[in-house]
Amino acid sequence: MRIAVLALQGAFIEHERMLQKLGAETFEIRQERDWYQPMDGLVIPGGESTTMLKLLRDLNLLEPVRNAILEGLPVFGTCAGLILLARKVTGQDFDRLSTMDIDVCRNAYGRQLGSFYTEDKVEEVGDNIPMTFIRAPYINKVYGDARALAVVDGHIVAARQGNQLVTAFHPELNEDMRIHSHFIDIIREHIGA
Ligand code: GLN
Repeated sequence: MRIAVLALQGAFIEHERMLQKLGAETFEIRQERDWYQPMDGLVIPGGESTTMLKLLRDLNLLEPVRNAILEGLPVFGTCAGLILLARKVTGQDFDRLSTMDIDVCRNAYGRQLGSFYTEDKVEEVGDNIPMTFIRAPYINKVYGDARALAVVDGHIVAARQGNQLVTAFHPELNEDMRIHSHFIDIIREHIGA
């Protein structure tokens, strides 16, 4: 199984390490030509969504990545990755990947409260999942085919829509590998392995 990790900016190394520990092969997308090779899944890491979006556009990757996701490529977006996948982001009318039926609020917890740690249940995954939030967004609303998987303090912080999985927190920053393992299961199911 080969998983692409978008490595334009942000916390991508930690995802690679975790996926490798789980037995997956990973490779980085840093430039346009990196995209055009076989892959079974894609990770869009946390970082700064506006910067990542600009780089995706500059590299002519926005459309190809969007099309691959719409055709069913399994994708896991954390934090800024979640923002890029959202169809709607409060206060931001411009184009993104926009493949997931979620409405998102950026830097939603305010400057002070945006970074915190908690543990909570994630549907399909398990209980007491470590959740590290860093200037995190949250999901205001899921609709269409999207489903909420986790709610913390009344806000949706994880969701799934078909082969798309998103978390507002950073599971790659803790030792617990259950969320990444779940993403690998989604890929396995997709490729029928
Ligand atoms: N606040 C960032 C943004 O809006 C996301 C933060 C993160 O990915 N840790 O892009």
